[in-house]
Amino acid sequence: MNRRQLCWRRVGMGSVLALLASALPVLAQAPDASVLVVRAAAIIDGTGAVRTNTDVVVRGGRIIELRTARGRADIDLGTRVLAPGLIDTHVHMGWYINEKKRLHRADDGDSEPTATLNVMGNAQRMLQAGFTTVQSVGGMEDKAVRDAINRGVIAGPRVLTSLGSLNENAGSPDSVRATVRRFHDRGADVIKIFASKSIRDGGVQTMTQEQLDAACGEAKRLGLRSIVHAHAASAAKAAVRAGCTQVDHGVLVDEEALQMMAKAGTFFEPQCELVSRNYLDHKEWFRGIGNYNDEGFEATERSLALRRDLVKKYLAVPGLKVVYGTDAVAGAHGDNARDMSCRVTQNREKAVNVITSATSMSAASLGLGSTIGKIAVGYEADLVAFDGDPRTDTSAFERVSFVMKHGVVYRYPPAIAGPSRRYPQ
Ligand SMILES: [Zn+2]
Repeated sequence: MNRRQLCWRRVGMGSVLALLASALPVLAQAPDASVLVVRAAAIIDGTGAVRTNTDVVVRGGRIIELRTARGRADIDLGTRVLAPGLIDTHVHMGWYINEKKRLHRADDGDSEPTATLNVMGNAQRMLQAGFTTVQSVGGMEDKAVRDAINRGVIAGPRVLTSLGSLNENAGSPDSVRATVRRFHDRGADVIKIFASKSIRDGGVQTMTQEQLDAACGEAKRLGLRSIVHAHAASAAKAAVRAGCTQVDHGVLVDEEALQMMAKAGTFFEPQCELVSRNYLDHKEWFRGIGNYNDEGFEATERSLALRRDLVKKYLAVPGLKVVYGTDAVAGAHGDNARDMSCRVTQNREKAVNVITSATSMSAASLGLGSTIGKIAVGYEADLVAFDGDPRTDTSAFERVSFVMKHGVVYRYPPAIAGPSRRYPQ
């Protein structure tokens, strides 16, 4: 109990005013218990800048000040490197591996509570890995978990979800628009659209220009963003023409499609390796379901090379807004940072740029660019610390040892004790 709490305990309501006059000077000198000072060896702030000798001051879930380090910090992270809470713009939070060590399907006998617990588990694993915000292009199973996290019932990242998806089977433009309105009415944060086949099925365009115009146009009219699964160049171009917010995957896109995205300001979300490796390293979880067969796995293997070719193309396009999205499916939640190290080691991108992509750029793609994704005054106090410096050691991306979301600490390095008082809520 601190001095102020003691003070208030002893005071009867009647004498509060009388006491205030004499207590005020003391209170003014006492440290503000609602303020937390966080210190680390360096701060990679999400905009491309790196600061040292700087404290992050947090109150009420927000960053209220960045100041030259002085005095004692409430949370001193030593040699660790601080970054904004990480953002994965493409996960499938509802996918999980069931007790039989197989991909969960609606008919595998799992009860709804079991499924929900697994979705919660995925959410918690991602938060512990430093992802304080995720966009799930999932199904209705996301809703209860998203809402429980927002209400503070359970711990988890900030979740935005599409609560489902639409594809070419949505039909006429009118019926596509009606489908978008249904997702909106259910409480979707974003509209997910499949405009091409999966890469296991060749990735060809499936939706017409008219269908995409209707889907992304109606989403925009309702104030929703639209993200489009598109492998074929023609599908990506149709999505750009339709004014969709984001193109996902793009394994087969050409330079023209990338130039069109850059010009239109369409966000682009390529993957590095996590999603493919997860399938290839754990074939037994998926084999025999849908197109998870030898042919499909071979296509996945080939897609790794195609993804590597794509990197050279997209890094050469100035102004292209590349966001971070792993497409984390069953078994990959919690490994979301793997594509960050992959982008540095394989793509030769700079670690600081990868952090910008996974923070401020991804925040902008979610329409949250003025509240999350930067360590800056007024922003949400979403902070992570890497055990090590990712600029010199890429494996540090996967060693997140400190996680704060909205000023609340969810993970501490083992060697550091928490502050003796309650975290601000
Ligand atoms: Zn996906």
